[in-house]
Amino acid sequence: MTKWVYNFGGGEADGRSDMRDLLGGKGANLAEMSTLGLPVPPGFTISTAVCTHFYDNGRRYPDDLNAAVDEAIARIEKRLGMGFGDAHNPLLVSVRSGARASMPGMMDTVLNLGLNDETAEGLAKKTGDRRFALDSYRRFIQMYSGVVLGVDHYLFEDVLDSTKRANGFTLDTDLTAADWEEVIEGYKRVVADETPDGFPQDAREQLWGAVGAVFGSWQNQRAITYRRLHNIPDAWGTAVTVQAMVFGNMGNDCATGVAFTRDPSTGENVFYGEYLINAQGEDVVAGIRTPQSLTRAARENAGSRLPSMEEEMPAVFGQLVDIRDRLEAHYKDMQDIEFTIQQGDLFILQTRNGKRTAPAALKIAVDLCHDGVIDESEAVRRVEPASLDQLLHPRLDPDAERNVIAKGLPASPGAAAGIIVLNADDAEARAGRGETVILVREETSPEDIHGMHAAAGIVTTRGGMTSHAAVVARGMGRPCVSGVGGIRIDEQAGKVIVAGHTLAAGDRLTIDGGTGEVMLGDVGTIQPTLSGDFATLMAWADKHRRMRVRANAETPADARTALSFGAEGIGLCRTEHMFFDQERITEVRRMILSTTETARRAALDRLLPMQRSDFVELFTIMRGFPVTIRLLDPPLHEFLPRSDGDFADVAEAAGVDVPTVRHRALQLHESNPMLGHRGCRLGITYPEIYEMQVRAILEAAVEVARESGDTVIPEIMIPLAFSREELDILKTMIDRVATEVGAGEKLTYLVGTMIELPRAALCADKLAQSAEFFSFGTNDLTQTTLGISRDDATNFMGAYVDQGILDRDPFTTLDQEGVGQLVRLGVERGRETRPDIKLGICGEHGGDPDSISFCESVGLDYVSCSPFRVPIARLAAAQASLKSDPPGHRTG
Ligand code: PEP
Ligand code: MG
Repeated sequence: MTKWVYNFGGGEADGRSDMRDLLGGKGANLAEMSTLGLPVPPGFTISTAVCTHFYDNGRRYPDDLNAAVDEAIARIEKRLGMGFGDAHNPLLVSVRSGARASMPGMMDTVLNLGLNDETAEGLAKKTGDRRFALDSYRRFIQMYSGVVLGVDHYLFEDVLDSTKRANGFTLDTDLTAADWEEVIEGYKRVVADETPDGFPQDAREQLWGAVGAVFGSWQNQRAITYRRLHNIPDAWGTAVTVQAMVFGNMGNDCATGVAFTRDPSTGENVFYGEYLINAQGEDVVAGIRTPQSLTRAARENAGSRLPSMEEEMPAVFGQLVDIRDRLEAHYKDMQDIEFTIQQGDLFILQTRNGKRTAPAALKIAVDLCHDGVIDESEAVRRVEPASLDQLLHPRLDPDAERNVIAKGLPASPGAAAGIIVLNADDAEARAGRGETVILVREETSPEDIHGMHAAAGIVTTRGGMTSHAAVVARGMGRPCVSGVGGIRIDEQAGKVIVAGHTLAAGDRLTIDGGTGEVMLGDVGTIQPTLSGDFATLMAWADKHRRMRVRANAETPADARTALSFGAEGIGLCRTEHMFFDQERITEVRRMILSTTETARRAALDRLLPMQRSDFVELFTIMRGFPVTIRLLDPPLHEFLPRSDGDFADVAEAAGVDVPTVRHRALQLHESNPMLGHRGCRLGITYPEIYEMQVRAILEAAVEVARESGDTVIPEIMIPLAFSREELDILKTMIDRVATEVGAGEKLTYLVGTMIELPRAALCADKLAQSAEFFSFGTNDLTQTTLGISRDDATNFMGAYVDQGILDRDPFTTLDQEGVGQLVRLGVERGRETRPDIKLGICGEHGGDPDSISFCESVGLDYVSCSPFRVPIARLAAAQASLKSDPPGHRTG
C-alpha cells in the first residue's frame, strides 16, 4: 500500500529533510525539525504523489487517502488533547501548499480551519477572549470563501466597511466582539448569496475543501507563470501540509515573525528579521503593518522607535537565537524561519534555505567555507551561476549627481533608471516595447509577478524587508526599494506625489536598491568589477573546472572586458562586425559593387591594413591566449542599404551610379538568406575576400609575436561548412597565404570549422580529416535542426513553451534531446578521425548554465560566450565538473 500521509510532531516524524520530492520543502523540513526536538506544532503532510494521482485521475484522490487523513487527524487530537470540530475544545489547523522548490505566495493557504458557529464559541470560552475567537472566525470565513469557494474579496471588505462606518470606527481594532458577530453574519450572507451551499459548518468538509483548493492551486495562472520563469517542471506537483494552529494574535504576549539566520541582502553574519506583536503570520508577509526589527542593533540602524524583539521579549528572543544557531549548524546554510509566539511560547512553523541576493550568496558561501562548515567545492555548488548576472550589472556612479527625493528600505540591491509605471500590465506592455520601466506600487502581490519580471526596478510605498515585493525582487535579481513612506500613489490619476513633486506615469526615476534611495531623473552608473568574495569564489571555481572558458568578442573593449572577467581566449571573433565601421563600410560596399575580380581585389587591398590592425590589437590584448577568428559569414546584401534614399549616398561614396547600386542589391536579394549565399559559400565563390582576411590574420599574428615575444595562436575558423571538400579548398588557400607571409615557420596556426549544419555533424569524421578544431555554432545548428528561423521564432516560441511542446526556448537553452544528439555525434565522429581535435561551442548556449552542463557531459574542451557571461560560465563549468568527474586533464 502506498503511504500517502506523513505525520510529524512531539519530537518525532515519518519524514526527513531529504524527502522534499515527496513532502515538498515545507513538509520535509517540518519533519526534520520535529525530529530535532524543536517546538513544531504537530501535523501531517499529504505527499506530492497524491497531487500526481489527483491530476492523473480527473481530480480524484486515492481511495485509501480518507482513512489515512482521519488517522493523522486523530494523532494530532491525541497529542494536543483537542478535538477537530469539538464544540468545547476545538483543534484548528492550517492547510498550506509546499512544493519541492519554494514558490513563495504562488499557491493557496487556509488558516484557522475548523472554526464554525459552535467551535468559535468553544474557542471564546476556552481562551476567555471572545473578541479574538470571533476575529479568527471572520478571518477564516473570508479566507476559506476566497480560496476554496472563489468568493470575491471585496464583498467581505464592503461588509466590514459598512459596520465600521455605521459605528464611526476607523481601525479593525475598534470593533468589539458584538461588532464582529454582526460582521460574521454579514459574511455568511455574502457566502450564501454567492455559492450554492453557503459556508460549510462541518470541519471535515472544510478540510477536504481546503486540501482540494491547495492541490488545485498548483495549476493556477500565477503558479504556472512562476514555474515557467523558474523552470520548475509541472510534473513535480505540490504537497499539502496540515498543521495545528498556533496564534500570534491572542494578545500582547503573542507575536509572529520571519527571521533569517544571516542578512539575505548582504550575507553578513547577523541575525536578521522582523516581527509583529499580536498579529497572524500573513500580516508580516503581506506588508499591511510595518513590522519591527528582531534585534536592537537593527532597530537602531533603521532609526525606529518601535521596540525590537530583543528588547520587548528577551527570554523568547534568547530561545530564537538558540534555534537560529541550531538550524544553521544542522542545515549548513542560511535559513529563512517563520515563527509564532503564542502567550509567551515560541513555535517554529517553517524553515528553508533562505533566498538571497547574489552578493549575499557569495558572501555566505565564502564565509561558511572559511568557518570550516562547508568545503570549497560545496561553496562552489552553493551559488546559482545565473544569479551572478546581478553582479555583472551597473551600479550607481558614486560621483554622479543625484537628486534624492525619497528613501525607503534597501530591499534588493542594484541600480536602475527608467520610466514610472503604476501597474504590472503597463510594466509588461511598455517593457515589451523596449522601454525600461520602474514599477511603483503601494505593495505587490503574486498577481503582479509578470510586471515585476518586466520591470528594471521596483518601488513600494508599504511593506518591509520581507514583504512580497522584497522577497520576489531579490529572487529575480531586480533592484527594489520597499516601504517608501514618502511616496503617495494616485493610481486613478496616474500620478505619484513625492516630496513636493508630482510625477506622472512615464516620468523618469532612478532607484538604488542597495541604499533605498529614490532619485529624480537618470543618475549615471558604473560597470562592475570582479573582486572580494566574487573573486575568491571564482578562484575556487577555476580549481574545479575542466572546461576552458572563452569569450565571443571582436572589439578591443569587449576583449578587455572578457579578460577582466577571466576569459581564457576568444572563441569567436565575428569579423563582419569589423566591416561596419564608418570608414570601412564604404570599401566593403565598393568591393561588393565591383563587377570584376580586379576591382574587387583593389577594394580588398584597401581593407587589408584596417583588418590587420584590428587583429594586431586583438592579439595584443589577448596576450598569448588562443584567438579564434571566423572568416566572413553573413550574406553580402546585409552590407548594402535597403531604402532608395540610402542608395544615392552609397552610390556617391562608392563612385558608381544609383541604378548600379539598386541593380546589385536586387541581384543579391535572396528569398531565404539564412540558407543562401553565406558562410564558406562566400569563400568558395569569392576566394579573394577570405584570402584578404587570412592574410590580415597571419600578418598580424607574425607582427605581434615578433614584437611582444608572446606566442600567438590564431585559429582560423570556416563558417557554415557541410563537407570536407569545402574545407580542403579553403585550407589549401590558407596554407598558400601562410607560406606567402612566411607564417609557417614563425608561428602555429590552426584551421578549423564551425559545426552549424546537421550534415556537418553527421559527416564530422570526414570534416575532421581537414579541420584541426570544431566549434559548435549552436545558434545555426538549432535553426537548421528544428527548421525554425532564429530571427522569427519569438512570434510563436512562447506558445510552444506554454503548451509544453518544448520545455524551454531552444535558442536560449540547448535542445539536448534533438540538437544535443547532433553535438554528441559530431564530438564522437570528430574524435574518431582526429583524437586530439579541439572542441568548443560558440553559440549563445555557451553562456547558459544548463547547456554548459551538457557541454561537460559530451566532453567539449571549452565554451565561449559573451564577455558579461564569462563568470557565469566559469561557475557553471565548475559545477558541471563537480557533478560528473573530479578535475581531469585540462586542454585549451
Ligand atoms: C552560431 O550559429 O551558433 C554562431 C555562433 O554563429 P552566428 O551566431 O554568428 O551565426
Ligand atoms: Mg552561425
